[in-house]
Amino acid sequence: MGKCALCQEERELEKSHIIPKFVFRSMKRNSPTGNMRMASQPNRVIQDGDKQAMLCGVCEDRFSPNETIFANKVYHPYHSDNLQVVEYEQWLNHFITSISWRSLYLDIVEFVRDQNIDIIDLDILIEAEKIMREFLLGERKDLGHIENHIFFFGPIKEASGDTSEFDLHTAIGGSVVGYTYISHDPDSSYVFLNLQGILIVTILKKAVEEVWENTLVEEKGFFNMGEPKHAVSSPVFNELFAVAKDLRESREKISESQKEKIVEAIRKNPERFLKSKAYQRLKDDERIRKR
Ligand SMILES: [Zn+2]
Repeated sequence: MGKCALCQEERELEKSHIIPKFVFRSMKRNSPTGNMRMASQPNRVIQDGDKQAMLCGVCEDRFSPNETIFANKVYHPYHSDNLQVVEYEQWLNHFITSISWRSLYLDIVEFVRDQNIDIIDLDILIEAEKIMREFLLGERKDLGHIENHIFFFGPIKEASGDTSEFDLHTAIGGSVVGYTYISHDPDSSYVFLNLQGILIVTILKKAVEEVWENTLVEEKGFFNMGEPKHAVSSPVFNELFAVAKDLRESREKISESQKEKIVEAIRKNPERFLKSKAYQRLKDDERIRKR
C-alpha cells in the first residue's frame, strides 16, 4: 500500500514502467544481439525498463489505451520506416503528458531528496506537475502554458562542424532517455524524452527566444513526414549532444568480456546483425564521418 502519485489515494501500488513497455520490447527485438544495454550501465544486460512503485492499478489503466494508440500509429510505423502522416486527437497530448509527468514527478522527488535544486526552479516544476496531473485525471481540459512538442530524428544528410564526431545516428536512434532539464542561461525548463529517435519535449517554462516550427501538439491535427519540415532552436536541443556524448563515454567503458559477447552473438547470427537497425545506424554515422 502507498499513496498513488496520480490520484493520491492510498491504494496498492503497482510497479510501473516509466517509459512504456512497447519501447523496451521493440528495442530488444531490434538490437543486434537480442539483448539491450542502457547507456548508464553498459555492462549490464537489461531485461526490462526502469520500474517504480508509483501508481495504483486504476491509474495504470488510465494510461494504457493511449499508449496502445501511440504504439500503433506512431512508434511502430516510425521504426519500420512506414510513417507518412499521423492524424491525432487528444490521445497524443495525453500520451506525451503521461510519460513527461512520470519522469517529472520522479525527478522532483529526487531533487527534493538531494536538495540540489534552486527554490525558484522547484516551484516551476511543482506547478507544472500539478497542471499535468490534473490534465491526466480529466480535471482540466488543457495544459495551460505547458506545451508538448514532438519531432522525428531522421538520417542526417549533411553534418557541419563537430557534429560528425558524435555518432548521432547510433546515439539518438539507439537509446531511450527521459529526464527534466533546467537551463539557466536563458531561464527555461523542459522534460526531454528520446524514444529511439522519436524526440518529445514538454516545455514547462519557455525561454524568451525559442523556435519550434511544426512540432507543437495541439488538440488535434496531423504531422506530415514529408513537408513542412520541423525547425527547432532551443536550449534543450543541446541535450541531443549530451546524450550522444554520454553514449560515447559509456561505450568506451564496456568491458572486454562484454565486447567479446557482442562479437560472438554477431558471429553466430550475422544475418540478424546485418538486418538490424543498429547496423543501419552505424552505416549512417560512417557516411557522415567520410564527408
Ligand atoms: Zn491512482
